[in-house]
Amino acid sequence: MAVVNRTDVRSNELDTGVANDLAAGITNSSTGFGGIDGDEQWAAEIRRLADLRNATILAHNYQLPAIQDIADHVGDSLALSRVAAEAPEDTIVFCGVHFMAETAKILSPDKTVLIPDQRAGCSLADSITPEELQAWKDDHPGAVVVSYVNTTAAVKALTDICCTSSNAVDVVASIDPDRDVLFCPDQFLGAHVRRVTGRDNVHVWAGECHVHAGINGDELTEQARAHPDAELFVHPECGCATSALYLAGEGAFPEDRVKILSTGGMLDAARETRARQVLVATEVGMLYQLRNAAPHTDFQAVNDRASCKYMKMITPAALLRCLIDGADAVDVDPQTAARARQSVQRMIAIGQPGGGE
Ligand code: SF4
Repeated sequence: MAVVNRTDVRSNELDTGVANDLAAGITNSSTGFGGIDGDEQWAAEIRRLADLRNATILAHNYQLPAIQDIADHVGDSLALSRVAAEAPEDTIVFCGVHFMAETAKILSPDKTVLIPDQRAGCSLADSITPEELQAWKDDHPGAVVVSYVNTTAAVKALTDICCTSSNAVDVVASIDPDRDVLFCPDQFLGAHVRRVTGRDNVHVWAGECHVHAGINGDELTEQARAHPDAELFVHPECGCATSALYLAGEGAFPEDRVKILSTGGMLDAARETRARQVLVATEVGMLYQLRNAAPHTDFQAVNDRASCKYMKMITPAALLRCLIDGADAVDVDPQTAARARQSVQRMIAIGQPGGGE
């Protein structure tokens, strides 16, 4: 059950009975908070509590439909971090995974940033720790560290330049060809960058996202054969789609039917496509937006098991608890944040960084 902290919001306004009645139904287990339906009563209470807290609610594209529908803004991680920095509200509720909320905090150090469940991690971000990165750097003195945005603030602070998959090639190409590059943590994106730049001094960390496992070359080839008229949309910023990006480049799906698109581009392409069927290589949460944007097109996941369990930890119960309790607060130590901010800002200055995952 959630602990109602009345010091966080004005008690008489919180104490309508509705919030307390709903909060009494919240359950908590290792898979997250549950016990609450994302219905109209819940939605009205979420809006009321967000107003009381002067909070804006941001939702990543891979969130559950109820969370996307209640949010003030839906988008990818960097776009949402920018929205957070410009928002007039002083509290940001970031419905996404932890590294994304950290990035929002790095770019908005003076705001209160809350995540509805801080256990919502990321297996890709977790595949390299700051200690491992420091040891790798010590083995390659003088190398330039390039990290994908799916990394913790502590890893970003040890990074020279962050990248998204949209600008990873440009970032690496901007580095003196004689200097070694340490690329982490995504091995698929790293392999893609090595192939495109032709550089053999790019060292790639062997990390990956757990959702990757479901999208492999055989599956893509089989899908291309089974759906000869379908297009393939790949969102390059999703950790789970970087393997598809790599495999599409390897020829596992006919090149003329592959579209590598940002979220906004994917929605535009969905409205414009003449294909009756589109296969989508990304986390399955994106299908909700695509089907809303183009109800007459048949959007199918390349792999319908490509669902991120961490993203789905942001449940209606978790969001309600977050707004009642003012938890979980995301804090980044100011020195780490300052160093991490530099690597993020260098990323933004190079090429087209896209929107992050
Ligand atoms: S889909 Fe993969 S990369 Fe994206 S948040 Fe989940 S675990 Fe991380």
